[in-house]
Amino acid sequence: MAVREIVVVPHGALSQEAEEIENIDDHVRNLARDMVETMYKAPGIGLAANQVGEAIKLIVVDVDYAYGDPKEKKKNPIIIINPEIGLCEGGDTFEEGCLSVPEFNVDITRPSCIQLTGVDLDGNPLKIEAEGLLARALQHEVDHLRGTTILDHASVLKRNIYRRRLKKQARKDR
Ligand code: ZN
Repeated sequence: MAVREIVVVPHGALSQEAEEIENIDDHVRNLARDMVETMYKAPGIGLAANQVGEAIKLIVVDVDYAYGDPKEKKKNPIIIINPEIGLCEGGDTFEEGCLSVPEFNVDITRPSCIQLTGVDLDGNPLKIEAEGLLARALQHEVDHLRGTTILDHASVLKRNIYRRRLKKQARKDR
Protein backbone atom coordinates (compact mmCIF):
# COMPACT_ATOMS: atom_id res chain seq x y z
CA MET A 1 0.00 0.00 0.00
CA ALA A 2 1.12 3.49 -0.69
CA VAL A 3 -0.07 7.01 -0.23
CA ARG A 4 -0.64 8.60 -3.64
CA GLU A 5 -0.34 12.21 -4.61
CA ILE A 6 -3.67 14.01 -4.67
CA VAL A 7 -3.91 16.13 -7.78
CA VAL A 8 -5.36 19.63 -7.57
CA VAL A 9 -7.15 21.91 -10.03
CA PRO A 10 -6.55 22.58 -12.87
CA HIS A 11 -5.19 19.01 -13.30
CA GLY A 12 -6.78 17.39 -16.35
CA ALA A 13 -7.95 14.24 -14.54
CA LEU A 14 -10.31 16.35 -12.44
CA SER A 15 -12.32 17.48 -15.44
CA GLN A 16 -12.32 14.11 -17.15
CA GLU A 17 -15.30 11.76 -17.16
CA ALA A 18 -14.25 8.50 -15.47
CA GLU A 19 -14.45 5.23 -17.35
CA GLU A 20 -16.56 2.28 -16.25
CA ILE A 21 -14.49 -0.49 -14.64
CA GLU A 22 -15.00 -3.76 -16.48
CA ASN A 23 -12.43 -5.95 -14.74
CA ILE A 24 -11.63 -5.81 -11.08
CA ASP A 25 -7.98 -6.73 -11.48
CA ASP A 26 -4.86 -6.17 -9.37
CA HIS A 27 -4.52 -2.66 -10.72
CA VAL A 28 -7.99 -1.73 -9.47
CA ARG A 29 -7.50 -3.53 -6.14
CA ASN A 30 -4.15 -1.84 -5.50
CA LEU A 31 -5.50 1.53 -6.50
CA ALA A 32 -8.47 1.11 -4.13
CA ARG A 33 -6.19 0.21 -1.21
CA ASP A 34 -3.89 3.14 -1.96
CA MET A 35 -6.85 5.49 -2.18
CA VAL A 36 -8.08 4.37 1.23
CA GLU A 37 -4.65 5.02 2.72
CA THR A 38 -4.38 8.35 0.93
CA MET A 39 -7.82 9.41 2.22
CA TYR A 40 -6.92 8.66 5.84
CA LYS A 41 -3.56 10.33 5.51
CA ALA A 42 -4.97 13.57 4.02
CA PRO A 43 -7.21 13.43 6.13
CA GLY A 44 -10.44 13.38 4.18
CA ILE A 45 -13.83 11.69 4.26
CA GLY A 46 -13.78 10.53 0.66
CA LEU A 47 -11.69 10.25 -2.47
CA ALA A 48 -12.40 9.55 -6.13
CA ALA A 49 -9.89 7.91 -8.47
CA ASN A 50 -9.76 11.09 -10.58
CA GLN A 51 -8.17 12.77 -7.57
CA VAL A 52 -5.14 10.51 -7.76
CA GLY A 53 -4.94 11.03 -11.51
CA GLU A 54 -6.83 7.93 -12.71
CA ALA A 55 -10.15 8.57 -14.39
CA ILE A 56 -11.89 5.29 -13.61
CA LYS A 57 -15.13 4.76 -11.69
CA LEU A 58 -13.84 4.07 -8.22
CA ILE A 59 -14.56 5.95 -5.00
CA VAL A 60 -13.76 5.42 -1.33
CA VAL A 61 -15.49 7.06 1.64
CA ASP A 62 -15.40 6.94 5.41
CA VAL A 63 -17.30 9.79 7.02
CA ASP A 64 -16.67 8.64 10.59
CA TYR A 65 -12.94 8.28 10.91
CA ALA A 66 -11.29 11.59 9.99
CA TYR A 67 -13.11 13.72 12.56
CA GLY A 68 -14.27 11.03 14.98
CA ASP A 69 -13.43 10.79 18.65
CA PRO A 70 -9.78 9.62 18.64
CA LYS A 71 -10.47 7.11 21.43
CA GLU A 72 -13.20 5.18 19.77
CA LYS A 73 -12.61 5.70 16.10
CA LYS A 74 -12.28 2.71 13.85
CA LYS A 75 -11.46 2.67 10.19
CA ASN A 76 -14.40 1.47 8.18
CA PRO A 77 -13.85 2.44 4.56
CA ILE A 78 -16.50 1.86 1.91
CA ILE A 79 -15.02 1.10 -1.51
CA ILE A 80 -17.42 1.43 -4.44
CA ILE A 81 -16.83 0.54 -8.06
CA ASN A 82 -19.05 2.00 -10.79
CA PRO A 83 -21.28 3.91 -8.35
CA GLU A 84 -24.62 5.06 -9.66
CA ILE A 85 -26.92 7.40 -7.78
CA GLY A 86 -30.57 6.42 -8.00
CA LEU A 87 -33.41 7.79 -5.94
CA CYS A 88 -32.83 11.15 -4.34
CA GLU A 89 -34.98 12.94 -1.83
CA GLY A 90 -35.08 16.17 0.07
CA GLY A 91 -32.40 18.78 -0.05
CA ASP A 92 -30.15 20.75 2.18
CA THR A 93 -27.30 23.18 1.91
CA PHE A 94 -23.91 22.62 3.42
CA GLU A 95 -20.47 24.12 2.98
CA GLU A 96 -18.12 21.76 1.15
CA GLY A 97 -14.40 21.70 0.65
CA CYS A 98 -12.29 19.37 -1.48
CA LEU A 99 -8.76 18.00 -1.22
CA SER A 100 -8.31 18.80 -4.92
CA VAL A 101 -9.47 22.40 -4.55
CA PRO A 102 -7.25 23.80 -1.79
CA GLU A 103 -8.41 26.75 0.27
CA PHE A 104 -11.85 26.91 -1.27
CA ASN A 105 -15.27 26.34 0.27
CA VAL A 106 -18.69 26.72 -1.21
CA ASP A 107 -22.28 26.17 -0.08
CA ILE A 108 -23.84 23.40 -2.14
CA THR A 109 -27.48 22.32 -2.08
CA ARG A 110 -27.90 18.59 -2.66
CA PRO A 111 -30.51 15.91 -2.03
CA SER A 112 -30.32 14.87 1.63
CA CYS A 113 -31.25 11.21 1.04
CA ILE A 114 -29.89 9.05 -1.73
CA GLN A 115 -29.78 5.50 -2.92
CA LEU A 116 -26.51 4.40 -4.48
CA THR A 117 -25.70 1.20 -6.28
CA GLY A 118 -22.38 -0.19 -7.44
CA VAL A 119 -20.13 -3.17 -6.82
CA ASP A 120 -17.55 -3.89 -4.16
CA LEU A 121 -13.95 -5.02 -4.67
CA ASP A 122 -15.08 -8.65 -4.95
CA GLY A 123 -17.56 -7.78 -7.65
CA ASN A 124 -20.59 -8.20 -5.41
CA PRO A 125 -23.46 -5.77 -5.91
CA LEU A 126 -23.68 -2.98 -3.38
CA LYS A 127 -26.73 -0.95 -2.47
CA ILE A 128 -26.39 1.89 -0.03
CA GLU A 129 -29.11 4.09 1.37
CA ALA A 130 -27.54 7.18 2.80
CA GLU A 131 -28.48 10.43 4.41
CA GLY A 132 -26.67 13.30 6.07
CA LEU A 133 -22.91 13.51 5.70
CA LEU A 134 -22.59 10.12 4.01
CA ALA A 135 -25.12 11.08 1.32
CA ARG A 136 -23.25 14.30 0.77
CA ALA A 137 -19.81 12.67 0.60
CA LEU A 138 -21.05 10.05 -1.87
CA GLN A 139 -22.55 12.71 -4.15
CA HIS A 140 -19.37 14.77 -3.94
CA GLU A 141 -17.26 11.77 -4.99
CA VAL A 142 -19.62 10.75 -7.80
CA ASP A 143 -19.33 14.35 -9.04
CA HIS A 144 -15.59 13.78 -9.40
CA LEU A 145 -16.25 10.75 -11.62
CA ARG A 146 -18.27 13.01 -13.90
CA GLY A 147 -15.36 15.43 -14.11
CA THR A 148 -17.03 17.93 -11.79
CA THR A 149 -15.57 19.60 -8.71
CA ILE A 150 -16.98 21.98 -6.11
CA LEU A 151 -15.66 24.79 -8.32
CA ASP A 152 -18.37 23.94 -10.83
CA HIS A 153 -20.96 24.43 -8.09
CA ALA A 154 -19.71 27.93 -7.29
CA SER A 155 -20.92 31.11 -8.93
CA VAL A 156 -19.03 32.27 -12.02
CA LEU A 157 -17.71 35.19 -10.03
CA LYS A 158 -16.43 33.08 -7.15
CA ARG A 159 -14.90 30.60 -9.57
CA ASN A 160 -13.08 33.30 -11.53
CA ILE A 161 -11.67 34.86 -8.39
CA TYR A 162 -10.32 31.47 -7.36
CA ARG A 163 -8.82 30.81 -10.79
CA ARG A 164 -7.07 34.16 -10.75
CA ARG A 165 -5.70 33.36 -7.30
CA LEU A 166 -4.40 30.03 -8.64
CA LYS A 167 -2.65 31.74 -11.55
CA LYS A 168 -1.05 34.28 -9.26
CA GLN A 169 0.08 31.48 -6.97
CA ALA A 170 1.55 29.56 -9.93
CA ARG A 171 3.53 32.63 -10.99
CA LYS A 172 4.85 33.04 -7.46
CA ASP A 173 5.88 29.39 -7.26
CA ARG A 174 7.89 29.56 -10.46
ZN1 ZN B 1 -13.47 16.41 -3.78
